[in-house]
Amino acid sequence: MSMINKKTIEDIDVKGKKVIVRVDFNVPLDENKKITDDKRIVGALPTIKYLVDKGAKTILVSHLGRPKEGFEEKYSMKPTADRLGELLGKEVVMAKDVIGEDAKAKAAALKDGEVLMLENVRFHKEETKNNPDFAKELASMAEIYVNDAFGTAHRAHASTAGLADYLPAVCGYLIKKEIEFMGKALSNPERPFVAILGGAKVSDKIGVIENLIDKVDTLIIGGGMAYTFFKAMGNGIGTSILEADKVDLAKSLMEKAQAKGIKLLLPVDNKIGKDFSNDTEAKIVPSTEIPDDYMGMDIGTKTIELYSQAIKSAKTVIWNGPMGVFEFPNFATGTKEVARAVAESGAISIVGGGDSAAAVEQLGFADKITHISTGGGASLEYLEGKVLPGIDVLMNK
Ligand code: AMP
Repeated sequence: MSMINKKTIEDIDVKGKKVIVRVDFNVPLDENKKITDDKRIVGALPTIKYLVDKGAKTILVSHLGRPKEGFEEKYSMKPTADRLGELLGKEVVMAKDVIGEDAKAKAAALKDGEVLMLENVRFHKEETKNNPDFAKELASMAEIYVNDAFGTAHRAHASTAGLADYLPAVCGYLIKKEIEFMGKALSNPERPFVAILGGAKVSDKIGVIENLIDKVDTLIIGGGMAYTFFKAMGNGIGTSILEADKVDLAKSLMEKAQAKGIKLLLPVDNKIGKDFSNDTEAKIVPSTEIPDDYMGMDIGTKTIELYSQAIKSAKTVIWNGPMGVFEFPNFATGTKEVARAVAESGAISIVGGGDSAAAVEQLGFADKITHISTGGGASLEYLEGKVLPGIDVLMNK
């Protein structure tokens, strides 16, 4: 069943109804419990505002961090409720627990258009076990379930999937947007369709490569994983990162691309360094000339040109993973220039993964990207062609 074909909050009457919404408010906090990045809360606003405007009684549930069992101040959702209140310009009631007396009383007392935030759902170990009794208790507070937490949609937990066993289940605007953009790119892309994959390891991206190789016109490989491909081609790679047990796989992926007539682009030159540090002695060399005592840490100038051209001729671009060790400013150029090419391509562009998303944001290109995926793990699994449990359980149109 296609995941694009799911009912949304617009397909169900929410007026006067108690609606439990799974959001992803797993935001970073500093030591004073101040939110350092509220992007995830902002991302859920369209859904919450819609429910408020329609006169629903909204009950929000999320996790934050990885608490052990039971209440822990450090992992309380309170700061997120306060921030949401500021963004909404209206009070967000904070419950003292998740399925306890306080939460239930406050949920029952909600008036139309009011918003309640439950405590951290992972204060109960039953959450991640998708315990049916726990899901039923949560569900008992509401009449409708909305999942809008794309970042956890690849997990079958009580609040991300279990609730759908007890309540009519639909998705919010954030999940709707994710599945519309990524779903269309995967099922019916405007061509040429170019995928850019980077990051440290081939092993993390095998599933994505295998799924995309049937769909794209051009597959661009960068980052540490390129060196496993070079090894497969018989190049010397010096001290570059290598997954020796994936060399055969790299070889078979190259053969598969060739057999299917897909362009597989690998770096033609590399910025290499003596050791793994920003200030190491560095130079740019062709991919066939990496000295034994150097490691590849970024794509080189010619590669940037080659990749940028391919990206700019695309109509659909998917990008996941940096082109080099971008945490070191001296090896961040490849990632930055790919971000620029994606932004300037005019293509339908989808960027996933924390590092690539951070790169486009840092460079001020975020508004030129069609869609920046909010879920790292979830978007990778989606690109692998896997069914995400938190979306699968929602009602079909
Ligand atoms: P991932 O989490 O798989 O997207 O990989 C991101 C990480 O890959 C970043 O921390 C980068 O520093 C790292 N990375 C990218 N290129 C290289 C490289 N050539 N050598 C070592 N690490 C790399």
